[in-house]
Amino acid sequence: MEECLRQFDRGYVKIDLDALEHNIDVMYDRVGRKSRLLLVIKTDGYGHGAVPIAQLSQKKESVGGFAVATFEEAKHLRECGITKPILILGYTFPYCYEELIGLEIRPAVFRKDTLRELSEAASRVGKTVKVHIKVDTGMSRIGIYPDQEGLSFIKMASELPGIEIEGIFTHFARADEKDKESAIAQYASFREFTRAAERLLGHPIPIRHCANSAAIIEKDLTMTHLDWVRAGITLYGLWPSSQVDHTSVDLEPVLSLHSRVAYVKDGRIGSGVSYGGTWQVKEPVRIATIPLGYGDGYPRSLSNCGYVLIRGQRAPILGRVCMDQFMVDVTRIPGVSCSDPVTLIGTDGKEHISMETLGELSHRFNYEFACDLGKRLPRVFYYRQKPAAYWEQFRPGIHSLESFFQNGTGV
Ligand SMILES: *Cc1c(COP(=O)(O)O)cnc(C)c1O
Repeated sequence: MEECLRQFDRGYVKIDLDALEHNIDVMYDRVGRKSRLLLVIKTDGYGHGAVPIAQLSQKKESVGGFAVATFEEAKHLRECGITKPILILGYTFPYCYEELIGLEIRPAVFRKDTLRELSEAASRVGKTVKVHIKVDTGMSRIGIYPDQEGLSFIKMASELPGIEIEGIFTHFARADEKDKESAIAQYASFREFTRAAERLLGHPIPIRHCANSAAIIEKDLTMTHLDWVRAGITLYGLWPSSQVDHTSVDLEPVLSLHSRVAYVKDGRIGSGVSYGGTWQVKEPVRIATIPLGYGDGYPRSLSNCGYVLIRGQRAPILGRVCMDQFMVDVTRIPGVSCSDPVTLIGTDGKEHISMETLGELSHRFNYEFACDLGKRLPRVFYYRQKPAAYWEQFRPGIHSLESFFQNGTGV
């Protein structure tokens, strides 16, 4: 890693924007370049950093817009120069409707009180609000049911002043499972309801979308690629589940996690390693201390079962992971010394540790693993194989190292 980033030796998350761009391109090919991608960058882009991802990708023809979970996430993207459509996937509380309309952020709608309040806010702002109707075809989370009452909701949305129905969408509960029956039934229900809604309105709804990452990659769900597809976990080169087809798209993991050895020593026979002495030194062992822990989102459940990579080899975790440090066994790795690079997620030589592997070892979902990597870890964004920008906790903003991000995008 370049000299200018030595301040991140303790630990940093590397975000490979070349891999991200590759994932966008292969998914666009996968959908036959017919659907556009709505990039799902909620929870700060699944912990990867929403702003540089949006700034990098918003000029791409393949990208229709961005999806987030909250008004604040959407507003921040606008403040950082993101001009493409931004959709809030969940419920948006009324306190921000005027600001939301001013910023042309699209809310998902499924409550009649929301429609009324949006319409009133629109008249106060003097601007139309574009909405996406959320249909519940099987998640039982949010959304109108695809029935007569659902149609009356759509009628109401179409008649209220200041509201424009730009889109309609639903979400699959089980597209990532081997058996596609449930997802196919949800799709059929969504299509039938969308057609009924369009008959009622007398015109097509411009943007229909239902596919998530699993539906983008699974061959049996190709028909779900409508005007947009919503690319979440696959954008980051991660898999929705172990059951999906891992060959239909050639994804590259975007995130890797790095640190350096803080200390190396020989264990003392009879001592325990870390809190609780859950690992006991019974024979000669060489111990390396890694200066990173569950305070960084590296889970304590990896105690005595995870491993890291040093000099291209696996070093198993000894004892409990602490908040800021943990120990590994380097007895079988010759020559390990202080400040040697350590890979916690990613590739070193012939060895690779994936987020999925770590998720399994720590009994956590890979999505959750990515979201929970701590804000104490700086994010370093690589583009064209060089560090291009970084983010760190106590210096707000994305700091550019090259001209790449300096296109008047607010960073
Ligand atoms: C989070 C989310 C997605 C993305 O899901 P992936 O499995 O990551 O592709 C898509 N649609 C909705 C409504 C979501 O909440």
